[in-house]
Amino acid sequence: MSLRIDSKTSIRTEVPLTSYSTFKIGGPARFFAEPRTREELFQVLEFQKAEGVSLLILGRGSNVLISDDGFSGLAVSLRQFEPDQFSVDPDGLLHVSGGMSLFRLAMISQEEGLRGVEFVCHIPGTVGGAIVMNAGFGRRGHGYFEIKDVFESCAILDLNSNQIKVLRKQDIRFEYRSSSLGSNHLVLEAAFRLTPTRREIVEAEIKANFAYRNSVQDLRFPSAGSTFKNPKDHPLTSGELLERAKMKGFRIGGAMVSERHANFFLNVDHARAQDVLELMAVARNRVFEEFGVQLEPEVRYVGS
Ligand SMILES: Cc1cc2nc3c(=O)[nH]c(=O)nc-3n(C[C@H](O)[C@H](O)[C@H](O)COP(=O)(O)OP(=O)(O)OC[C@H]3O[C@@H](n4cnc5c(N)ncnc54)[C@H](O)[C@@H]3O)c2cc1C
Repeated sequence: MSLRIDSKTSIRTEVPLTSYSTFKIGGPARFFAEPRTREELFQVLEFQKAEGVSLLILGRGSNVLISDDGFSGLAVSLRQFEPDQFSVDPDGLLHVSGGMSLFRLAMISQEEGLRGVEFVCHIPGTVGGAIVMNAGFGRRGHGYFEIKDVFESCAILDLNSNQIKVLRKQDIRFEYRSSSLGSNHLVLEAAFRLTPTRREIVEAEIKANFAYRNSVQDLRFPSAGSTFKNPKDHPLTSGELLERAKMKGFRIGGAMVSERHANFFLNVDHARAQDVLELMAVARNRVFEEFGVQLEPEVRYVGS
């Protein structure tokens, strides 16, 4: 069913969220919208307030595991939100929309001859999702980079006060795979401080990142990338701990731990969120029993 709130935006009901998460898992959203402009977004949020339902913000859904029961409020996907909007200042400050894909961001930086965001080229999320998650990546021997390293500022909609605010780097606490931006902040746009250079240099870096990504990640089946954060102050990564705990190839229902990368949990055959949760519980228990390490999920669970 489609409830039309103006001539452009429609709010649909009982929309399966499987297509809005890279895991391809999730029950229906009671209400769902995919706004393309600020005007449409604000109308959708007015609807949410008027209905008094809770809000789920989704970028490209590449770091979420959505419950089999779905979401009982309004889910807003931002993957169509101003996906091509950008501008460049002469000093290398790149302004982009929060809904832009990270691949597009990297391509713009290549076209404009700006260094600094090549490391996000392969990450299947949006600019907003990458800021909230402080996304990061590095090739062995070539350094490790996080969004915070290039982040200058962002414009957010404060969902409590309904005001647009500009947050600078010092206003946000960035940590490994998280930030102080909470569910009451919606990233509308962001600015990244990049370094002017030759296009070929950016292009070569992007190609090298894709090649390295292809050699380490398992992209044969839907997933949400790394399931657990790497533990602090431990010499082994989560993938290495899970591999040593013999989790590779371990399967529950339609969910399986990758045989290539033990921190990639794959949806190999119509997995339910419950299958993934049970697999995560087994993995955490095994790693805790064998190594005394409590793995912390990187994937965000949407549900009760
Ligand atoms: C194959 C694969 C490879 C991956 N590789 C990497 C990697 O190398 N490095 C890495 O760091 N991550 C990686 N990831 C994880 C994921 O892509 C990143 O965390 C990404 O930044 C999430 O962006 P998203 O738009 O999909 O966010 P979503 O998954 O949609 O959302 C993540 C969180 O951000 C919030 N959010 C999203 N957009 C906004 C917004 N505009 N305003 C406010 N809140 C928002 C959501 O509510 C949610 O809490 C990978 C995932 C996959 C599937």
